Amino acid sequence: MTKYIFVTGGVTSSLGKGIFAASLAKLLQARGYRVTIQKFDPYINVDPGTLNPYEHGECYVTEDGAETDLDLGHYERFLSVPTSQANNITTGRVYQYVINQERAGAFLGKTVQVIPHITDEIKRRAKLLGETGEYDIVITELGGTVGDIESLPYIESLRQLRWELGQNNCLVIHLTLIPYLSAAKELKTKPTQHSVKELLKNGVQPDILVCRTEHDLSADIREKLALFCNVDRKSVVQAMDCDSIYEVPLQQLKEDLDVTVLNKLNLSTEGTPDMSTWRDFVHTLYNPKHQVKIGLIGKYIELQDAYKSILESFIHAGVANECKVKIESVHSENITDENAAQKLGHFDAILVAPGFGPRGIEGKISAIRYARENNLPFFGICLGMQCAVIEYARNVLGLEGAHSSEMNPNAPHHVIAMMEEQKKVVNKGGTMRLGAFPCQLKENSKAAEAYGNTIISERHRHRYEFNNAYLKAFEDSGMVMSGINPETSLVEIIELPNHSWFVGVQFHPELKSTVSHPHPLFVGLVKAALQHKQVKELADEGKTQKNIISYS
Ligand code: GLN
Repeated sequence: MTKYIFVTGGVTSSLGKGIFAASLAKLLQARGYRVTIQKFDPYINVDPGTLNPYEHGECYVTEDGAETDLDLGHYERFLSVPTSQANNITTGRVYQYVINQERAGAFLGKTVQVIPHITDEIKRRAKLLGETGEYDIVITELGGTVGDIESLPYIESLRQLRWELGQNNCLVIHLTLIPYLSAAKELKTKPTQHSVKELLKNGVQPDILVCRTEHDLSADIREKLALFCNVDRKSVVQAMDCDSIYEVPLQQLKEDLDVTVLNKLNLSTEGTPDMSTWRDFVHTLYNPKHQVKIGLIGKYIELQDAYKSILESFIHAGVANECKVKIESVHSENITDENAAQKLGHFDAILVAPGFGPRGIEGKISAIRYARENNLPFFGICLGMQCAVIEYARNVLGLEGAHSSEMNPNAPHHVIAMMEEQKKVVNKGGTMRLGAFPCQLKENSKAAEAYGNTIISERHRHRYEFNNAYLKAFEDSGMVMSGINPETSLVEIIELPNHSWFVGVQFHPELKSTVSHPHPLFVGLVKAALQHKQVKELADEGKTQKNIISYS
C-alpha cells in the first residue's frame, strides 16, 4: 500500500517546504523507495501559467505540458523523476472540477459545499498518484502557511485522510521557524507552539517538527518543543540554514529524518541510503577548481525566483566542469549598442533569458550583437533565441526593422512570427505550445556534439517561432539551424559555427537539468566560458593566440 506524507508550513512563508520535501524524498529514494512529490497550491488560478514572474517566480513546465509551481522544478532536480499535471493542484483546479461536475448533474438534488465536496475532491487528488501503483511513498507539500483562510479546506482534507488511511500510512510533517532574538541571544519556540496549536485547532497533530534555525537547537530547546507540541524527542528535527540547497538532504540524513519517517510509516529501515554521488556533487560544489562569471540578461532580475531553473542549471553545469559559476544579472532595459562593451566586457559568457512582451527587448538584442561580434560565448533561451534571430536579421542580413510579430505587429520583416496553430487561440491559460517535443539535430553541430546524440526531446512554452520563409537567407549567410522538429519543421536550435559558442534554443533546457543529469547545453556553455576566460587571461599575459587552447 502507498504511504502518504504531508508537509505543512508554519509561522511564515518561504521556509523552503519544497526543498525540504525534495530532500526527504531524495533520502527515501536513496534507500530504494519509489517516491514522488506533489504540491497543492491554495490560490484560485487554475495554474500559475498566467501569473507574472514577479508574482510567483518562474513557471515550471512538465513533460506533459502542465504549467506548474517552481517547486516541481526542485522535485525533478533532486529526484530525476519527471513530474506531470497530476503533481500540481490548485484551489482553482479543484473548484473548476467540482463546478463542472455540478453543471453536468453529478450532484443532482444536493447542496454542493466545501465539506464534503471540495474536501472530497482534494482527497481524491491527494491519492491519485498513489493509486497508480508506481510509488511506495507520495509526499504532498501543502502550499501556504497554517492559519491562512485559503489553506483551511486542505487542512480539513488532511484531518479526514489521517482517519481514513490510518496513522501508520499517513504522516504530517510540520516545517516551522525557530527565530533567534539577537538582543536576548535566544532561540524562541513560541511561534512554533502557536502554529502547532493552529493545526490542532483543525484536528491535525503533526508527527514530526522540522525546525528552520540559524543556530543549533540545544537539547533543552528540543525537549521543550517535544513537550509543548506533543511529539517525541526524535521527531524534533533541526534544519539549519546552509550555503546550498543541495546540502539539505545530507543535513537531514545527519538528523536521522529518514529513519524517523520510515519507523512511523512501519517501513523497513534496513541498510543506509546510498548518497555517495550526491555527496560527491556537494563536495565538488564547495571545492571548485575554476571560476567563471556569466551575465544573465533579463528583465525580471529583481526577483531571483523568476529564473530559478536557469540558476540551478548553472550550478549543475558548474559542478560538471569543477567550476564555480558566478552569475551577475544585468537588466536588459539598461543595455544599448553603445554601452554593451562596458556592461558585458568583463563576462566570460552571457545568457539571454526567456520572456514575454517588448519591455527590455532592444537591450537583449544589443547584448547579443556584442556577444556575436566579440566572440563572447552566448546562450539564448526561448525569447533569447528569438532575439538572436532578430539581431542577425538586422545586422547581418541587412533586414532593417526585422522583428518578432509579438513585439511589433507592423514590422517589415517578421523573422519571428506567431505559430499557425496559435492564431485561432483566444484564451490565455494553458494555450501556448507546451511540454515535450522531439527535435532532430544536425550532425557535427555544436548541439549534436554537446548532447552526444542526434534526436532529443525538450520542453517548450511559447507562441512564436522562427519564420521558415527566411530560412534560406539565414542559412546562406552562415547561421546553422541545428535543431528541427521532425514533424513540423519548426526551427528549435540555431547556432553560429565560427564562434566560440553561439547557441539559441526555442525550448527550455533549464527545465531538464538535474543533479544527476546536468544539461549538456549548460555544461557546454560553462566549458566555453572557461575557455574564453583562459584565452583572455593568456592574451592579457601577452602570449600569442597560437599557443592558446583552441575552441572546439
Ligand atoms: N514570448 C515568446 C513566445 O511566446 C517567448 C516565450 C518564452 O521565452 N518562454 O514565443
